[in-house]
Amino acid sequence: MDVRIEPGDITAIAVDAIVNAANSSLMGGGGVDGAIHRRGGPAILQECRRLRERQLPDGLPAGQAIATTAGDLPARWVIHTVGPVHSTSEDRSDTLISCYRESLRVAVAVGARSVSFPLISAGVYGWPIDDAARIAVQTVTSMATRIEGTVTEVVLVPFGERAEAAFRAHLS
Ligand code: ADP
Repeated sequence: MDVRIEPGDITAIAVDAIVNAANSSLMGGGGVDGAIHRRGGPAILQECRRLRERQLPDGLPAGQAIATTAGDLPARWVIHTVGPVHSTSEDRSDTLISCYRESLRVAVAVGARSVSFPLISAGVYGWPIDDAARIAVQTVTSMATRIEGTVTEVVLVPFGERAEAAFRAHLS
């Protein structure tokens, strides 16, 4: 499995599966979530609503992941995961690690070959960029040697210079 960095808007990068830093409601939001729903169109929200009704009455818990259609995006699936809100009183790193692991598991389950990730929890959820990038890179690269299945390419997508520098520092 190859891990690379491609800065910019995640909705413009063609991969099989785009990971969304969603919130538990799966009903859309700001940041990367808003960009994905805007560019992907209403089909994504429609499927999220169905998932809420049929499987997830209380929403998607932090650290878990679930796939929907990607609508009009240049991808086949959006994999929604919910990052932990950063806390200074409690270490929630395991939940953030779980976001990357579970998203990759779902990617394998649907048969995706390439998967892109934003810097989960590093926006509205307040995670320090450098620490979020370290967790992202460590988790994805450690899965790269163990993962069995279809995924051959992981694209880490920093949005902004600080995120890009952090990803590059930890990947090298
Ligand atoms: P969270 O609630 O998990 O913190 P956010 O969407 O607020 O999610 O932020 C997660 C990361 O996604 C941040 O680093 C933010 O800069 C980045 N981001 C925002 N828009 C985009 C986009 N269009 N493409 C890629 N990354 C984005």
